[in-house]
Amino acid sequence: MIERTLSIVKPDGVAKNLIGEVVRRFEAAGLKVVALKMVRLDRGEAEGFYHVHRERPFFASLVAFMSSGPIVPMVLEGEDAIARVRTVMGSTDPAKAGAGTIRKDFASSIEKNIVHGSDGPATASFEIGYFFSALEIPPR
Ligand code: ATP
Ligand code: MG
Repeated sequence: MIERTLSIVKPDGVAKNLIGEVVRRFEAAGLKVVALKMVRLDRGEAEGFYHVHRERPFFASLVAFMSSGPIVPMVLEGEDAIARVRTVMGSTDPAKAGAGTIRKDFASSIEKNIVHGSDGPATASFEIGYFFSALEIPPR
């Protein structure tokens, strides 16, 4: 099924000049970039994005990290896009990520792991709408 999903180059990825590398890997995997921007979240906006994790012990640190610098959210489209983006990213913990994945190659820790990808259709829908208005996304 053709899906859309949200990915983000996180503050560490932007700081390490990896915007192009992340986009290149998604494009090389056959995913199409249909929307993309650079923004900086404030603390409340980062809390809203990661609200599902609000009870987790790492939440405050994650929110501080995600609001620490500019990020590059993008909407990617393709066959099974949600799962494929997560395959290209690799596991959350770079020590457990497979060879050739973004996180294996570039992430410095389980928190500072370069890239985000929606984990299912409902989260993809919420997360795309969090960053992009209807006018900024091409109709399907
Ligand atoms: P993402 O949602 O960013 O794509 P993910 O789905 O692989 O990553 P989640 O479990 O949703 O992982 O965690 C969201 C983010 O919270 C992680 O990407 C990471 O930045 C941070 N995180 C997750 N687990 C930990 C942890 N144990 N310690 C510190 N930070 C963590
Ligand atoms: Mg997640």
